[in-house]
Amino acid sequence: MGYKKPSFIESIAEKIGIIPNLHKEGYQEFDQDMRHFTDEEVAQMYENFPPPEKWDDWVEYDPKAWPKKVKKSYQIIPTTCFNCESACGLTAFIDKETGEVKKFEGNPYHPGSRGRNCAKGPATINQLTDPDRILFPLKRKGKRGEGEWERISWDEALDTISARIRKALKEDRHNEIAYHVGRPGAEGFMNWVLPAWGIDGHNSHTNICSSGARFGYNLWYGYDRPSPDHAEAKFILLISAHLESGHYFNPHAQRIIEGKMKGAKLATMDPRLSNTASMSDYWMPSYPGTEAAVLLAMALIILEEGLYNRDYLENWTNWQEYLKAKHTDKEVTFENYIAAMIEEYSEFTPEFAEKESGVKAEMIREIAIKIGEAGERFASHNWRSAGASNLGGWAVARCLHFLTVLTGAVGAKGGTSPNSWNKFKPQVPHTPKPQKKWNELHFPNEYPLAFFEMSQLLPHLLKAGRGKMDVYFSRVFNPVWTYPDGFTWMEMFLDEDKFGLHTAMTPTWNETAFFADLVLPMGLASERHDINSYATHGGTWVAFRQPVLREAARRNGKPVTYTYEANPGEVWEEDEFWIELSWRIDPDGSMGIRKYFESPNRPGEKITIEEYYQYIFERVEGLPAAAKKEGLSEFQYMTKYGAFEIEKGESYKKNETPLKPEQLEGTEIDKKNGVIRKNGKDIGVMVNGKAVVGFPTPSRKNEFYSQTMVDWKWPEYATPTYIKSHIHNDVLDKSKGEYVLVPTFRLPTLIHTRSGNAKWLVEISNRNPIWMHPDDAAKWGFKTGDLVKMNTDIGYFIDKVWVTQSMKPGVVACSHHIGRWRREKDKTGNRWATNTVNIENKEKGKWKMSTKSGIKPFDSDDKDSKRIFWKDGGVHQNITHAVHPDPISGMHTWHQRVRIEKPGPDEKYGDIYVDTNKSHEIFKEWLAMTRPAPGPGGLRRPLWFKRAFRPDESTFFIDKEKDK
Ligand code: SF4
Repeated sequence: MGYKKPSFIESIAEKIGIIPNLHKEGYQEFDQDMRHFTDEEVAQMYENFPPPEKWDDWVEYDPKAWPKKVKKSYQIIPTTCFNCESACGLTAFIDKETGEVKKFEGNPYHPGSRGRNCAKGPATINQLTDPDRILFPLKRKGKRGEGEWERISWDEALDTISARIRKALKEDRHNEIAYHVGRPGAEGFMNWVLPAWGIDGHNSHTNICSSGARFGYNLWYGYDRPSPDHAEAKFILLISAHLESGHYFNPHAQRIIEGKMKGAKLATMDPRLSNTASMSDYWMPSYPGTEAAVLLAMALIILEEGLYNRDYLENWTNWQEYLKAKHTDKEVTFENYIAAMIEEYSEFTPEFAEKESGVKAEMIREIAIKIGEAGERFASHNWRSAGASNLGGWAVARCLHFLTVLTGAVGAKGGTSPNSWNKFKPQVPHTPKPQKKWNELHFPNEYPLAFFEMSQLLPHLLKAGRGKMDVYFSRVFNPVWTYPDGFTWMEMFLDEDKFGLHTAMTPTWNETAFFADLVLPMGLASERHDINSYATHGGTWVAFRQPVLREAARRNGKPVTYTYEANPGEVWEEDEFWIELSWRIDPDGSMGIRKYFESPNRPGEKITIEEYYQYIFERVEGLPAAAKKEGLSEFQYMTKYGAFEIEKGESYKKNETPLKPEQLEGTEIDKKNGVIRKNGKDIGVMVNGKAVVGFPTPSRKNEFYSQTMVDWKWPEYATPTYIKSHIHNDVLDKSKGEYVLVPTFRLPTLIHTRSGNAKWLVEISNRNPIWMHPDDAAKWGFKTGDLVKMNTDIGYFIDKVWVTQSMKPGVVACSHHIGRWRREKDKTGNRWATNTVNIENKEKGKWKMSTKSGIKPFDSDDKDSKRIFWKDGGVHQNITHAVHPDPISGMHTWHQRVRIEKPGPDEKYGDIYVDTNKSHEIFKEWLAMTRPAPGPGGLRRPLWFKRAFRPDESTFFIDKEKDK
């Protein structure tokens, strides 16, 4: 763009003084007026971030004083963003005069984000200054859920919780204690705390998020997440809107564009013309749930056209096992392997895939050829989207990885590596042994292969009388709003026999915290300590999220003991909280808990936060040398730069790492498959006469054939398969107005439930209408803005229609993250984003919600709160969804069969109805679809499967006596 002449209106406005006259002769007050630079010059300036040696005293002009030139001095302190999992680098600009954080910019020293952020990074400042934030610990007054709160001290909170935990542990009620986490954002900390207490108490949100895709990847190669090397790829395939949202999206987006700039082609499979699809070379608007059919068609083309990587298939898949198990009549030769695969997938012609998905056969063929030609440089990603939405959604990731295997792109430069290869794992002090408990409320025996905790079923399991939660933490976690069937969560939270003491640890009010006993304010990105490391590219890094005001105080010679002393109000952080709590659970050390939280340097004394992080950082490869070079400790180095690059990008083909001579001592080789075993554990595999580490699967190779699936009663899924979804066209009754609703997509500027306190983000996105193609709208007689009644299996919600060509005909969609609410009696919170609603439960299990008022301007210290112009806070759709856990992966299958109709005369925008009796019946229906444990040898889960917070191996065997 560069400099532009003023328009006619600008000139008039300048002349009459409505805006400053920037074009008058000699106005040039600034030394360098940006308007006179070319785009290239501006780009160069943004590269020129203040150098670290000036971070303690950086001077720049106050933009708010413009056009006056007012100098401001800042202290710049790095931290990381907490608004999605990417943990991009941020730098906080702290006004030296007021001691307040004034803004956030990127951190150019962060190897993942390289100085860049999405809109949610800088919006951290909104969250910090939100007038509705919770500043002090609170305890409920009156009945739970009645909205009355009183301020308490941290001491009271800690004493209340620790006494209850101590009692439960002493009475051997370990399984009644649970920590349920939404956004984790930290590496390793809770893996230290919970096993130290001896509980199997971790529950996560993963089964409503990513466990479907994880399961599909895991079956193949023992790793559960992909790390695509986009920047080096020749062809990129995304089954999601990954360029604009999702995990690692800003770091990935940068590299996808880099790849494209070097000539890579991008293809996106999505029924919506998302921003990602619009930036792609190929958009495949597939019917939801049919993605695996398209991928298998591509696989067949690659096989038939001979575009596969023979060397990789021959050496790194378990093809001999496949032929021996499924083709006993055939000789075990590589040629027969290829022929058998072609035969197995012969029905998956591009024409069949077109019939299923609606994606043109010619496009499928063209993309398949391009993928085959890209060879090892084929990068792909599937995270939530299809994997998180369909019955059998896990098969999508499995079929996608099939293409990666066929091309030999697994772990290759420009290909797709396992995520763990690009991730640092911290080593904590006093590592506790795995707990000897298995909590069947988290991993019920009906779901032996569930990749993560069956967290969406927790309220139903409680309702069914299968246990209770005596001490329950919801931590940055809002199931009443985010999860399907929020009213069942609410019912259980209101029952003190089901949830004993509920502590909500949250930086902001949310719909779940309304039903807590204690609400504990936890720090936002710049108010807490965490370690981050994510697979953003073909390299490895570690970053340090730190409380910037605490660090500023330290640098300015006023150190504090606890982070809440530096944060606004008494906002604390989890790390110090858990250490304090652990000491109070076991004050004299007699329970064997306290010892884990003692200083590694000062025996018998409590570990400090600096000691904890120093212990970890001094064990990061390369960091001690880098710190020494600057005369700093490892901890100081991380507080200064906020991140460290452990490896630049040579993390390729790690499966080929040779086993060292000392590792090979005392090993034996399995004659059947070349697996190398030591002391009963598999440690590698023989490939081409070399002993290498391979993959963590039973064959140590990519498992095209999964004996595990056969052993665990799913022989029909022994090889990559297409599974027809619960919302397949065959099961929808179009004559009754049934459609598939895609409820999963995210608007790029929103955070699951934590953007309600970020005014800039809500200003950009504040509604969630139903996307509908013009042909469908015409059929119904809908135009944009008309009300539509969306009937789900357990109730309905009333939304507005948005008629758009960006939606595949026959499919409707509604974005996630919008439709936040509070009741009149609740504490005011998130007023930028919440509707005020009325909730009624006149008949048992029959819940109605209606909107009393939308979003309105309000008085506060922030003048912008009076300037709110948007009124519509959207509609809460997830609460009308029933639980639909995939019987194998355990993943909640988000897509909904909905019956569309026009609302009645008395029905209003935002009306919601749910029958939780029905939802419990649906829970039972889906439960009946499972094939429960035990598996072989009395196991409740395959031993080679990872498990979050993996307990002691003995617990994997179903033995009721042991569990008592
Ligand atoms: S991509 Fe995620 S971590 Fe990065 S700036 Fe955006 S919200 Fe923050």
